[in-house]
Amino acid sequence: MKHRMPPGLARLWAPWRMEYIKASASKDPGPCFLCDLPRLKQDRENLILHRGRKAFVILNRFPYNNGHLLVAPYRHVAGMEDLKDAEVTEIWRLADRARGVLDGEMQPQGYNLGINLGRAAGAGLPGHIHLHLVPRWNGDTNFMPILGDTKVLPLTLLQTWDLLARKFAKR
Ligand SMILES: [Zn+2]
Repeated sequence: MKHRMPPGLARLWAPWRMEYIKASASKDPGPCFLCDLPRLKQDRENLILHRGRKAFVILNRFPYNNGHLLVAPYRHVAGMEDLKDAEVTEIWRLADRARGVLDGEMQPQGYNLGINLGRAAGAGLPGHIHLHLVPRWNGDTNFMPILGDTKVLPLTLLQTWDLLARKFAKR
């Protein structure tokens, strides 16, 4: 009897597709902004909010919401298993510090924290792990689909940097 799979699973298990996924994952990642930007000194232009010892905080240039930021290690590593204990601790502490700064300056009503591991999960930069911190306000997504691709962001990225970077320095 021939084994049959549901269409979705058949596609998922198709060996050629796995090869395709592996091939695209092993391609040269090219330039990495999470490696390049901390090497420069223009933190405002590059939207770096705070530099820690092992990790740093940077505003997302393509924000989902005002104040959407990333916490990343300086080292170019892809997996959770690649992080050293000191990096894990500092990434988490910086995320909490960022939450405190955002609480004070933007009064969000909630947050989403997340890591996209791999392109299939939506990672735009799969080679360099980073934690997203997205402030949320009641109703902030309700009107977004109506506007399609147009995002209503009342603050520009540089205004957001000016607002938050000073506070980081004080905390
Ligand atoms: Zn990198």
